[in-house]
Amino acid sequence: MNMNLIERDSRYVWHPYTQMQTTPAPIGIVRGEGAYLYAGDGRKYFDAVASWWVNLHGHSHSYIAEKVSEQLRTLEHAMFAGFTHPPAVDLAERLLEVLPSDQAKVFYSDDGSTAVEVAVKMAMQYWSNKGTPRNRLIALKDAYHGDTFGAMSVSSRSTFTAPFSPLLFEVDFIDVPVKGSEEEALEQLRRIMLEREDEIAAFIFEPLVQGTAGMVMYEPGPLDQLLKICREHGILTIADEVMTGFGRTGKLFACNYLEQQPDIFCFSKGITGGTMAFGATTCTQQVFDAFLSGDKLKTFFHGHSFTANPLACAASLASLDILVEPETMESIARISRQHEAFAGKIAGHRSVRQVRCRGTIFALEWETGDSTSYFSGLRDKLYNFFLENGIIMRPLGNIIYIMPPYCSTEEELDFVYQTIELALEKFS
Ligand code: PLP
Repeated sequence: MNMNLIERDSRYVWHPYTQMQTTPAPIGIVRGEGAYLYAGDGRKYFDAVASWWVNLHGHSHSYIAEKVSEQLRTLEHAMFAGFTHPPAVDLAERLLEVLPSDQAKVFYSDDGSTAVEVAVKMAMQYWSNKGTPRNRLIALKDAYHGDTFGAMSVSSRSTFTAPFSPLLFEVDFIDVPVKGSEEEALEQLRRIMLEREDEIAAFIFEPLVQGTAGMVMYEPGPLDQLLKICREHGILTIADEVMTGFGRTGKLFACNYLEQQPDIFCFSKGITGGTMAFGATTCTQQVFDAFLSGDKLKTFFHGHSFTANPLACAASLASLDILVEPETMESIARISRQHEAFAGKIAGHRSVRQVRCRGTIFALEWETGDSTSYFSGLRDKLYNFFLENGIIMRPLGNIIYIMPPYCSTEEELDFVYQTIELALEKFS
């Protein structure tokens, strides 16, 4: 087999979210270090999107690598039904220490979609176990919660979900409470409560930043009000912190900005510092208690072969060690300040429709006149322009965003901002 990597890839591999007939060949990445990915041809790329929002502390981080390899030599995996192990218990304790105090139990899974799938099933079975089954959820318009069937069901209906629509369960979508739509969102929620409260199991949302929707941002106040209504009606609330968790929004969790706390949280992506696939769903004692019974049918019949994989738990513990170090928290604050300053600088540019920031997440919506489609030509032009300039940027339609690893330096971010300014001039 003496074909090169790209030839072998195109012969044998099927990539995610990729039209394999028309998309150009992928770039072969052979090494990662800090905020950079290195290609086989010697080029290096600044990972401005943290490799699909997962990487927190930089690539191939030596501390995480040591902890994972130590764990690999001690215990690489053990099934998690009937057995347990120190990394899983240590991680559950650590997570519950940093989460809102009423979170009581941690259920492990494999990625963001399964963390959501677990949350949705947990919420539905909660009601079924209580003897009053409820199978309908409320979600925000334009939500994205993953690609498995339950996660797709609570996500907005789009080109992504169209082929599967007959099998998706019904969801009530309410407006995202962005500035100007807060009252409408509250009103829609109240209306649903009036019309069919006894069918609603839970309300699921991406707190403060809707990632795939285009880094759509909204304030804690209206979300608090939505959560309050749910609480008054006894509806469970599920915060999908798969993207926002672990410092992304400037605080450890986006829900730290809220006064009302959700009943269930979903985590993945940054949980392992971005080193490997892993998911966790946490819940309150009240949710957990609904599954305790002498009746075996009330068991939560859900699990995966790799539930609580010790390597993923070890990576998560190591990532948490780094995350809570004062230097990391300072970097998060500094990145947030840099984003804000740059947003202020370019807000009035003729090609900028809107610029928004929340913590380490910066988003710029391009003024396109009419076309904003995900597949618009602008998206590909921007993607290629940034790649040519050594930056990995994966626009969402006409929206570019930066969500860098926390180890990114001031100079590295300045380089990204300068390149954005060049792009604004070139693609006006
Ligand atoms: N939830 C949110 C908020 C996400 O942004 C994503 C992925 O982008 C998911 C869930 C799904 O996670 P995964 O891709 O790991 O299945």
